[in-house]
Amino acid sequence: TRRLEGRTALITGGAGGCGLAASELFAREGAKVGIVDLPRSEGAALAERLRAEGHDAIFAPADVSDAAQVKDAVAAVETAFGPITVLMNHAGILAALPFLETSEEEWDRIMAVNVKSMFLVTKAVLPGMIAAGGGSIVSTSSISGVVGTPMEVLYCTSKGACHMFARAIAVEFRDRGIRSNAICPGFIATAHGLREIDLLQKHGVDVTEAAIAAAQGRLCRPEEVATAALFLASDEASFVNGTHLFADNAYTAI
Ligand code: NAD
Repeated sequence: TRRLEGRTALITGGAGGCGLAASELFAREGAKVGIVDLPRSEGAALAERLRAEGHDAIFAPADVSDAAQVKDAVAAVETAFGPITVLMNHAGILAALPFLETSEEEWDRIMAVNVKSMFLVTKAVLPGMIAAGGGSIVSTSSISGVVGTPMEVLYCTSKGACHMFARAIAVEFRDRGIRSNAICPGFIATAHGLREIDLLQKHGVDVTEAAIAAAQGRLCRPEEVATAALFLASDEASFVNGTHLFADNAYTAI
């Protein structure tokens, strides 16, 4: 049997990188998928492709840092497919620059897209999820949520917040059948990951192929984040709540 049969899944950042891998995997596992991503993303084309393959999928465009857009996108997914019982808070952007060169605008933008988004989307989704009897929330943190990575004070701070968001939601809502967990990937071979490596290199951080090989063996594949998210989203993880699942090949275990 498929592991998300009958569920409605909303995935933010669901049109790119690991979000795209999760949209495809969750659809194959039987979920009706609401892809929430920026209007200019590949979301519409992806939803169309998934439908052509026989899945239920819609694109609900939104900038996840914008309250009104989030409200509309969540309503669109609920109208199409019913209450959301799987939420993947995945959308996020990076910042890799010397702390003293960080502007207040950059700080506000990262916090809005990486942190405030989780507040907005989760708050919009929870009433329906609770009414449906419960569900699973998976928030994408990072190794940078638990270890300081150079040139990434801003990014690390946002991911640390994501970490605690996942935990505290679990504590407050476990009595209503809600599970909330975070996944913490290492460097991933996506647009985000490759740009991050580029920027870090530019700022003198050793992230050559050899350095990444020493830290985590190789780059993580987007599918390897999607399968970790699927486990947390599915009933296989029925007693896994408030935890962090690392997909980093022991980067943070050394
Ligand atoms: P990606 O850049 O390939 O994809 C991110 C998706 O999010 C894109 O489709 C993009 O359009 C969307 N997005 C960006 N800003 C948005 C906004 N304001 N509103 C709606 N959608 C928005 O990235 P990815 O590698 O899949 O990473 C995304 C998440 O994974 C982030 O939360 C990131 O912090 C986390 N992460 C990435 C890495 C890595 O190395 N790539 C490592 C650890 C954690």
